[in-house]
Amino acid sequence: MSLGAMQDWSMRVAHVIDHAAREAPDREIVTHWADGSETRTDWAGIHRDARKMAQALQALGLKKGDKVASLAMNHARHLVSWFGVAGMGGVLHTCNPRLFEDQLEYIVNHAEDRVMIYDAAFQPIIDKMRDKWPGVEHYICFDPPEEFDGVGFEDWIGEQDGDFEWLAVDERDPCMICYTSGTTGHPKGVQYEHRSTMLHAIAGLQPAAFNFSASSVMLPVVPMFHAASWGLPYAGAMAGIKFVFSAVNDPAVLDDLMKREGVTDSAGVPTVWLAHFHYADAKGIELPKLRAATIGGSAAPRFMIERLMKNGTRVQHAWGMTETSPIGTVGGPTADWDDLTFEQQVDKTMKQGRPIFGVELRTVDLDDPTKVLPRDGTSSGALHIRGPWVLKRYFKTDEDAIDAEGWFNTGDVAILHPDGTMQITDRTKDVIKSGGEWISSVELENAAVGHPAVAEAAAIGMYHPKWDERPVLFVVRKEGAECSAEEVVNFLSDKVAKWWLPDAVEFVDDIPHTATGKISKKDLRDRFGDYKLADA
Ligand code: ADP
Repeated sequence: MSLGAMQDWSMRVAHVIDHAAREAPDREIVTHWADGSETRTDWAGIHRDARKMAQALQALGLKKGDKVASLAMNHARHLVSWFGVAGMGGVLHTCNPRLFEDQLEYIVNHAEDRVMIYDAAFQPIIDKMRDKWPGVEHYICFDPPEEFDGVGFEDWIGEQDGDFEWLAVDERDPCMICYTSGTTGHPKGVQYEHRSTMLHAIAGLQPAAFNFSASSVMLPVVPMFHAASWGLPYAGAMAGIKFVFSAVNDPAVLDDLMKREGVTDSAGVPTVWLAHFHYADAKGIELPKLRAATIGGSAAPRFMIERLMKNGTRVQHAWGMTETSPIGTVGGPTADWDDLTFEQQVDKTMKQGRPIFGVELRTVDLDDPTKVLPRDGTSSGALHIRGPWVLKRYFKTDEDAIDAEGWFNTGDVAILHPDGTMQITDRTKDVIKSGGEWISSVELENAAVGHPAVAEAAAIGMYHPKWDERPVLFVVRKEGAECSAEEVVNFLSDKVAKWWLPDAVEFVDDIPHTATGKISKKDLRDRFGDYKLADA
């Protein structure tokens, strides 16, 4: 019984899909499949299939709290499983297919997944892993090939009638689990609750974040297995938007879909746009005219922001992490926006935006964490966050991952500006300490990729007897492009402080990446473990 005068209405994910089916039943959900075929459904169809799926899971004997794993790209059936699993009280564990085998083995066993639903494209992974996942009782393929002797998703849910009442779960019950890619040690599980998911999605709808309305047409390139696709499926359902999914990340397919399906919004990591630029330039075609592009996961470089903005696309540079559901900050027009020159607007968009309502940020001194830093636009320190969709405790651990005041230490280094804008300068473990002062490896890298011959760059600190560490910049040149180390340093000289300039520039064929496509400084450091600076 409620003590107040307002109705009881628990924050359950099932409300989201009920709402979409009621208010936007025929708004389309388009899928481009791995085999090139395309299908169309709508919110009413997703709602119907989610109920059938919930029944089908119960028929397999699954109970409230049981885990269902997915190993899949973005498509309508994956979307069905987001609502179908939560609706029967289950927990969907979206696995990243790019994880190393031992990580995949670990996370599926650690989560105690009972069912694995996967894309045919990942059949080789399934075949290899099956014996290592003793707890998985059922394997179901989302998009089985014609000759298939296993269980196909559509046939499996097709046996049910869809007459299903969502389970009345508690709003603090879990609905999804994601593991961080775990650059050191085992990946860590982050369990999202119905309530945290709902609050995060509602916050994501606002004009200062995804700015969704019924007219939005979103093509999320960010995978559904990466930090819940930034909560987009939930926020999109709340607004009744049209979704366009692609199970392949080929820029030719994405470009065509964006133009053909009237896509207004997209979201992805910076490398997605990089690939799109290369494709459009090679073909001599224009970029799609999107209203907004949300870019996050790693820092968006200047040339990317500039080009998209010149194309008439609002760039929403966002920051977050698996532990924060993931949205922490999003960049949108600030109070002074209309008075800024284009250059100043680009400068502002380079930073990672402002906290959306619900989360709080602070920075503390890197050497003395008891000292909270001012929001003065210059002090940089360890970034802390707290709020209802921020992790309190990793899955299956006994200890809280937050301090007594509820702050979660993100592992990022940031500057807070007086207008609330947050600027990531590094990760705590990647920041370069030279003569007692900090050098931002991220800023060095961002400046370096502005050079027309540079495809990718990574800066790491190398031991130096006098300065402790000095930056070395590893550079991958663009195909067929030439440039010398001296040219790179000259190019950087008016973009960063003089004492930040790298002591050496090394050209490499490739730079190692993590499973979420980010530069892996750890692997780079391992690879160059014996590296010595000329004066070290
Ligand atoms: P993983 O660590 O598993 O790759 P996450 O998505 O949780 O996955 O990574 C979160 C981290 O990504 C943040 O802590 C931050 O270092 C980095 N990051 C996210 N967004 C941005 C951004 N816009 N600019 C710079 N770094 C970012």
